[in-house]
Amino acid sequence: MALLEHGGSILQNGITLLALAAVLARFGMWLPVLLLLSTLPVLYVTVLANQRYHQWWEQTTADRRKAHYFDLLLTFPQAASELRLFNLGHHFHSLFAGLRLNLRAARADLLRWQALVRLSASAIAMVVMALLVLWLGWRAVRGLSSIGDLVLFYQAFSRGQGLMRALLSNFGQIFSSALFLESLFSFLEERSQVNVPARPVPAPTQISQGIHFRDVSFRYPGSNELALDHFDLTIPAGALVAVVGPNGAGKSTLIKLLCRFYDPNLGSVELDGIDLRDLDPDELRRMITVLFQFPVRYHASVAENIALSDLLLGADRNAIQAAARSAGIHEAIMRLPEGYDTMLGKWLAEGSELSGGEWQKLALARAFLRQSPLIALDEPTSFMDSWAETDWLDRLRTLIAGRTALLITHRFTTAMRADLICVVDAGRVVEIGTHAELLTRGGLYAQSWRAQTQAAQPHSEAPPPKRAQVLTA
Ligand code: ADP
Repeated sequence: MALLEHGGSILQNGITLLALAAVLARFGMWLPVLLLLSTLPVLYVTVLANQRYHQWWEQTTADRRKAHYFDLLLTFPQAASELRLFNLGHHFHSLFAGLRLNLRAARADLLRWQALVRLSASAIAMVVMALLVLWLGWRAVRGLSSIGDLVLFYQAFSRGQGLMRALLSNFGQIFSSALFLESLFSFLEERSQVNVPARPVPAPTQISQGIHFRDVSFRYPGSNELALDHFDLTIPAGALVAVVGPNGAGKSTLIKLLCRFYDPNLGSVELDGIDLRDLDPDELRRMITVLFQFPVRYHASVAENIALSDLLLGADRNAIQAAARSAGIHEAIMRLPEGYDTMLGKWLAEGSELSGGEWQKLALARAFLRQSPLIALDEPTSFMDSWAETDWLDRLRTLIAGRTALLITHRFTTAMRADLICVVDAGRVVEIGTHAELLTRGGLYAQSWRAQTQAAQPHSEAPPPKRAQVLTA
């Protein structure tokens, strides 16, 4: 827009300036040239000022972003509890204020410098103007030109200088916009690391063989550590496979590769024997539904929150309710002031707020609504209380009937219900088998199982735990 606006102004001012130059040429051909020369210092200053502003902008990007981050921390509801409890408000406010103060000081310095050099450049133009008026006055005294000529000349020359200044400011703005355009174009030139094949293989509508991670090694862009290291796993069609392992073992990375947010550095991920790189990513993603570890809390109505996973379905209320029932959130929704039409979140309108577990169940409903043959659940029960978890796990089989499922969890009580359990550590498969097989093997799974179940068991001689104790556990 700035380019168009200033381009238009240049055209307009340029035409007027040409007319004025013709008037000035009557007094001498050298006058339009002098007009141009007298404004050259302003041109120089304009270019320099824009360059320095752009430099300031680039150099302060990180600080401006940091200040913006502190601003969000201080105003977003998600941070409010910790900020109050740990009394962090003043801490982040002073960090924010310190950054803004430095930014403002640097900007003020720049503006002061600009004002000073602009003043000097204008003073040069004024001196030229004064000399010319003296020269014309001298000519009038000697009878070489009339008072009318003097007035005409003064008007034309001072208007000419004004126009030149406007013209140069237009050029300056275009120059400045072009500097920012450079950044925009280099951003637009960023190529996706995930290439769409020229002739994609049509994606199958159903999974008949399964998913195969074949000797996959992967490191995130810019990272030196391998997130997956010669990882090999087959998820048979129609099976429920659980992946367990400590934090940072590479479990969530499997989902990211499955959705083709990244491609492996070595090896391949295959769906029914087709390398995912040969499929159109959009078609592939339509086959998958995922409950992410940190699902988005959309500030929209409950029904919309569920329907967003499949906009093509056209928000059919029956399907939405069925998905909510599957996720075990229907009853809680019905208790909300306007049921499925209740607005959630405080961002857009005065909405209701859900608990962490309820938000997660809502995301689960969203994942269930999408009728896709492959379902991936990343820590689906992490926010649920033990009753909700048991109830949900009992129904899990029915919910995923006919689908191939990948379940990521660190809870062994969840993993034990899978057909196959894969234990991952440091990006490698450590053990694989059914719950019973892994327990007999006596390896990492068996040790961790014992540790987790013993930790959850009350002391043998102690009375059965009360509700409050279970909650704490
Ligand atoms: P898990 O789900 O088993 O807890 P992840 O798959 O999320 O572990 O992460 C595996 C490793 O990859 C970790 O060391 C983590 O720090 C790293 N990692 C995860 N996401 C990114 C990312 N976007 N960029 C760089 N490294 C990442």
